[in-house]
Amino acid sequence: LFVVFEGGEGAGKSTQLAALAERLRGQGRDVVVTREPGATAVGERIRSLVLEPTGDLPPSPRAEALLYAADRAHHVATVVRPALVRGAVVVSDRYVDSSLAYQGAGRTLPVQEVSWLSSWATGGLKPDLVVLLDVDPHTGLSRVESRNERADRLEAESVAFHERVRYAFLDLAAADPKRYLVLDASRPAEEIAEAVARRVDEFLVD
Ligand code: C5P
Repeated sequence: LFVVFEGGEGAGKSTQLAALAERLRGQGRDVVVTREPGATAVGERIRSLVLEPTGDLPPSPRAEALLYAADRAHHVATVVRPALVRGAVVVSDRYVDSSLAYQGAGRTLPVQEVSWLSSWATGGLKPDLVVLLDVDPHTGLSRVESRNERADRLEAESVAFHERVRYAFLDLAAADPKRYLVLDASRPAEEIAEAVARRVDEFLVD
């Protein structure tokens, strides 16, 4: 079972991911918690290239898309597929939809092209379930700013950028509703965790 959490900045993905992993581990399951970008040693270096720009960076949009795709290709080949093959539940913080939303809609690259690039990178591996934590950018960004870790980088992108990202996620979910669970990220964390747990349980009944 391959579950992906997606959402804008400050949507609360990490909290929900941790809650789901703890619950599944409590049931005695083999759970692999992972993320993009940066789950592997190669990925860590790519993550710092895209997220900690120095000198003449940040990378241009196409270069950025290729870097995320490279991170994803390596992540799928060395972490996600091997775990799925041995029967583990894989829970990833971001996957292909983040590229469609950020590199596609956000940076205004053609979404179809970013989608081809991602399919090539992953060999076509799709998640069984995408949990989309939908957050209004004003709310999400203020949550992140209050944590203050990445305020500078995020300030470089406009609210319009984050609005495009948000609606791209929602459009992806609307186009394939069976694969998505869309939750309002402003609801209490426990309620969100409960809704995620109910949906994931549907996949795990023997
Ligand atoms: O998931 P997390 O919030 O740690 O993501 C780190 C950052 O990477 C996000 O702020 C997002 O802007 C960026 N990102 C991106 N494109 C992706 C994945 C992440 O721009 N495909």
